[in-house]
Parts: sequence; structure tokens; C-alpha cells
Amino acid sequence: MPRNPRYDILFEPLRIGPVTAPNRFYQTPHATGMGNMKPNSSAALRATKAEGGWGVVCTEYCSIHPSSDETPYAYLSLWDDEDMQQLEITCAAIHRHGSLAGIELWHGGRHSNNRGTREVSLAPTAVSAKHANPAQVKGMELEDITAFRSWHRDAALRAQQAGFDIIYVYAGHDYLPFQFLSPVSNQRQDEYGGSLENRCRLLRELIEDTRAAVGEHCAVAVRLAIDELHGADGIEAAGEGRQIVEMLAELPDLWDIALGGRLGNDSCSSRFSAQGYQEQYAAIVKSLTSKPVVSVGRFTSPDTMVSQIRRGVQDFIGAARPSIADPFLPNKIAAGREDEIRECIGCNICRSANNEASPLRCTQNPTMGEEWRRGWHPEIINPAKSEASILVVGGGPAGLEAASSLGRRGYQVTLAEASAQLGGRVVDEASLPGLQNWIRVRDYRAYLLSQMSNVEVFLDNRLTAPDIVAFGADAVVVAEGSHWRRDGQGLNLQHPVTIEQSECIHTPDDIFAGAKLSGRVLIYDDEHYVMGGALAEKFLAAGLEVTYLTPQAMISSWTVMTDEQDFIQSKLLGMGIEAVFTQLIDHVDGQELHTRHIYSNNKYRHAFDHLVLVTGRSANSDLFAELDIGATRIGDCLVPSSIADAVYSGHKFAREFDEDPATLLCRRERAVLQQALPPRQNPSRSHP
Ligand code: ADP
Ligand code: SF4
Repeated sequence: MPRNPRYDILFEPLRIGPVTAPNRFYQTPHATGMGNMKPNSSAALRATKAEGGWGVVCTEYCSIHPSSDETPYAYLSLWDDEDMQQLEITCAAIHRHGSLAGIELWHGGRHSNNRGTREVSLAPTAVSAKHANPAQVKGMELEDITAFRSWHRDAALRAQQAGFDIIYVYAGHDYLPFQFLSPVSNQRQDEYGGSLENRCRLLRELIEDTRAAVGEHCAVAVRLAIDELHGADGIEAAGEGRQIVEMLAELPDLWDIALGGRLGNDSCSSRFSAQGYQEQYAAIVKSLTSKPVVSVGRFTSPDTMVSQIRRGVQDFIGAARPSIADPFLPNKIAAGREDEIRECIGCNICRSANNEASPLRCTQNPTMGEEWRRGWHPEIINPAKSEASILVVGGGPAGLEAASSLGRRGYQVTLAEASAQLGGRVVDEASLPGLQNWIRVRDYRAYLLSQMSNVEVFLDNRLTAPDIVAFGADAVVVAEGSHWRRDGQGLNLQHPVTIEQSECIHTPDDIFAGAKLSGRVLIYDDEHYVMGGALAEKFLAAGLEVTYLTPQAMISSWTVMTDEQDFIQSKLLGMGIEAVFTQLIDHVDGQELHTRHIYSNNKYRHAFDHLVLVTGRSANSDLFAELDIGATRIGDCLVPSSIADAVYSGHKFAREFDEDPATLLCRRERAVLQQALPPRQNPSRSHP
């Protein structure tokens, strides 16, 4: 299909200093959880973005010196020539598709725990280390600043030699150059502290050093956190943030505008921000410089992208998450296939991967992170190996993904869904406050299915075991989901407790089925992801009196991983929730929840009109147990987990169906032996 001419502007090349981006799609630096330990995986991931049409593809943060180490989190490094050779693979992979390669040179300063390198941590001022307690950091002396500048310059030279086109000076996310900018972290009395001009000195020098070192061939980009969102105590866009840009306006070749303070400010989830949420910040910078400006905002709509450029908000469409959810987003727009964009839902599961020091994963895109390991390509899947017909039972995320991917392979697929609509748990969860974008998990797949003549979908069809046998498909996939437990068993309690069931005791399933609550609602959360907090928000918004009780020490504790926890807790406290922490369910007696304190073992009672148990989930297993033909379970009915895991499970089944197991890739990146091992001793004598 031809490209819609309305989107032509997105495909105009643009100069960035000495290099030219082929279009306006700019994949800004983002973590992958791979770093220098997984160079092949990293290169394959970035190559997929370039192949998908991103005109600029940047790496994640790349340490310039061992004093910037975040063990065990995965970062790149350019400490020496061997690091450089490793990054050449990534550059070459990006260049093969005609894109520019950018690298984000990084020094974490006070952020760096240096647990791996055991170097002294450095910062503008001697304060407590951020993540390496009880350590302090060393306030940098002038010779430390001189050394830091030389490390940065050396890393820039290596980056150029590795083949990078855009080299970042990274003054964002509370890392070292930003720590010099902010009056919160810089209390120096010398020429690098005090006035804004002094606090800007290091950033100015870094830009000048980088330009002098590599500026003839490489663009020098500055990533700036223009607002810390700390209010008047820190850098504010309307005040010093703006003044920094005014002072340095024409010095870099490109401005990449971000937010500082907590990480969730910059990669804010859809629960707490809308598409284009950083527009006001990019627009300020655009008004102050003639250099190209880029910023992120979870852009998935080409109309919004065009509007950003036409209205002069920014010159490039910056994206991390939309490029993770759909590496082929630009090419789909180019081919007039924008209705096939797999839109990011803003759940921040990708952020959780990095926060857990594990390789990148994505709710919407099950191939993300698997480009090298399993050889999965987001747009290419093996054609069917046989004429087999496949029955998929259940149209939640797992069943939808299996049916649509099997359909793409060309199999004859029938999808039966018990309810009147597709989506399973996603329909329920997307009805919770702030989670409406989650419905995209269903919508993307339902649309694909509607375009396939080899897939039939039957709604309002709850299949029994005899129905399935009678249907006579060659293969059966059961994706019938899970249900919430009613017996108190959850993360912190591995056995059921006595709960006299009544009309006052509910699980989230009852709430979604329409249970009416009134009076005092007590939520007991031993799941710790979004459900407990989001239900609390729903009830508070409906004017109910809500107490949230949990064995953990904070509300929705696992959402620390998705950078949302403090947003959730602040919001719920602001809405008047009563929160009770570190208490574990003991039993329920009538309309009283009996608990014991995790630490003191003291006993408590909590009266309620309605109790909502958000604890563990059980797989729906009856149907599968009744089936006496071979069938495969996928998703939550195998193991209840996240939507991301359900989608992954459906995708993996579709990829592997009918394939010879011996041909399926599952590669590992291994540590390389530096030298041959000494000859082995007689094994019988090596264990005295
Ligand atoms: P998952 O996350 O594993 O996809 P969900 O709970 O979201 O699990 O979805 C399971 C879907 O399966 C629900 O939409 C449910 O209505 C459907 N389902 C459950 N049992 C049957 C059945 N016997 N026949 C057809 N559909 C079923
Ligand atoms: Fe978007 Fe969620 Fe995928 Fe991250 S994990 S890219 S937020 S859909």
C-alpha cells in the first residue's frame, strides 16, 4: 500500500551536525538489560530497530570509566580497545540498514555503586552514595575533574573508531554531569559550583572536548534533564533548565530532552501520563536553539508525530518504548500499514526488566530481547510445516497471540472464546483507573485476526471437553486463564487460611463480574502488582472508605520495578486511603479480618463491610484435566503470571508448533576464557 502523503514529513532526512539522519524516527538511548555481557544480543536488538526503519538507533548507557559501574545492572562500556571492538558489531549492524548509530557515554557519579570494580565513587560534593550504602562518595577535586574529562574524551574517540555517528554528552537522569548542574547535588564553592554559569562549566567543557575530539565526523548530542520535578529546590524547566539551554543553545549538534529526578518521571507509565507528555519541555528547547531537538512521549500515532513536527515542538520523533513494542513502526507507516502498528501500552514491564537486571522483555512484543537468543524476528515467522488445523480455546492474551501467530504462519486456526468479547483478563484490567491503554493487547491481535481468512473466531462459545474432542482439530491449545484465590494464599503465605465465605468476601473476579460494594472496604494485597492499588483507586474514586492492608512495607510494592510505586502510593494517600503495612492474614471471622504483625507477631482485628482478597491466582485446570486427547496449555492456565508472560507463552507455542526441536535456537552468551586452563590433575586426587 502506498504511504499516506500526510506522513511524508516523517520521512524527510535531517542533518545533525556532520551527519544526516535518513528520516525523523529516532530511537533514543534505552536500557536493554544486556549491556557488555551480551554483545551479540545487543547488536541483534539494535539491528532489528534499524531494519524496522528507525533512522537513528542509539545504544543504552555506556560507561566511560570503571568508576562508573552499576553491577549487577547491564551497561555498555568503553574503557579500553576490547570494549571498542565489541561495540563495532553493534555499529555495523545498525549501519547495514542505513541508519545512524548513536552512543550514550555515561558516568553515573553518585549513582554508581562500583560494586563490580570497587573504584571510589565520585560526585561534585562529598555526600552519601545513592545505592552503595553505607558508603559516601568522594567530592571531586580539580584533578578528578581533569581526569574525568580525559576519560570522556578517550571514550568519545573509541566510540568514533567503533563507528558511531552520534556521541552523547549525557546530562540526564541524575548522572554525573547533571549532578554538577543541579543545586541539590552541587554545593561546591569553586568555579564548578555556585552560580548557574559555574555549575554549567563542566557540561560546556564536555561538549567542547567531545567536539574537539570527534566533532569533524560525529554529531555531538546532549541529553539534558531539563526539569527534576523537585520544584524550586532543583532544576526547573521554567527557570534554570531554560537558562542552561540558553547558555549552551548552539553548542551541541542535537538536544535530546528528558526529565530528571526519579526514573519514572522520564519513562512515565501510561497510568500516570498521556502520549506526548513531555511536549512542553521539548517545545521550550526548540524555541531557544536552531539545532535539532528530540524528546520521547510514547508516540504511536503517526498523526500525533506529524503534529509534533509541524507545530515546531521537536524535529525528530524520539522513542524508546514504542520502538520496543514495535521495532517496525516506521516501516509500517512508510508502507501505509499504520493500522498494523503494535502500540506500546505504557505498562513499563520493559523497565522492570532493567530494574531486575534481566534482558529486555515487552508485554506487546514477545520477540523483544529474543532476536539473537532464539532468532525471533518481529515481522517474520516460519511458514506452516503442515496442513494441520488448530483449535485455540480461550481468547485472552495467550490465546490471541497463539491464534494470530499460528494464523500468520498459515495454519487453519479456530479460536473459541467463552465470553461475548475477546481479550480475557485484559478487558477487566483495562477497565481499571489509568489502565485503558492496556486494551491495545487485545485490539492489536483482534485486528490481525480480522484480516486473516484462515482464522475463524467464535465468541460466546464455552467449550467442554466433549465439544473439543468432537471438533476434531489436529491440535488443541488450551488458554483458559486463571482465577483469583479465595483462601488467603499469596506471596507471603504459602498455605490457605480459614475464610468463611460470604457475600462480603470478594476477589477481583467478583468485582469485574459486577459485585456491588458499600461502606468500609478492606483490600488485603498479597499480590503486590497493580491489582490491589488500582482497585483501591477505583473504590476511592467511587467515594468508598478504603483501607489497604498488606504484608509488604508499601503499596503495590512490585511496581517499584515498573517505576510506578511512588506515583501509586502518593496518589492513593492523596485520595485518602488508609494504609496498613507488614500485617499478614491469619483468618477471617464474620466481618473481621484477623492479622498478625510480620515483625512483632502482635495480633490485630480489622472490621469491614466488604473484604477484597488480592492474593495468589490458580490456573483454570478442569477442562484440560478432562481432555483425554493430547492438548497443550499456554498462558495463565499453565502458570498464572503477567500479561507479558501470557503473550510470550502463546507466541512461543506458535513459533515452535510442528518444528523439529533440534532446529530451535536457544543460544547463550558465555564468559570467554582469558587463557587456557592449566592441565587437569588426576580427578581422584583433586578432591582430597
Ligand atoms: P491468558 O492470560 O492466559 O490469556 P485470560 O484469563 O486472560 O488468560 O484468558 C482466558 C480466556 O479464556 C478468557 O477470555 C475466558 O473467557 C476464556 N475461556 C475459559 N474457558 C474457556 C472455555 N472452556 N471455552 C472457551 N473459552 C474459555
Ligand atoms: Fe510499552 Fe509495556 Fe512494551 Fe514497555 S513493556 S514497550 S511499556 S508495551
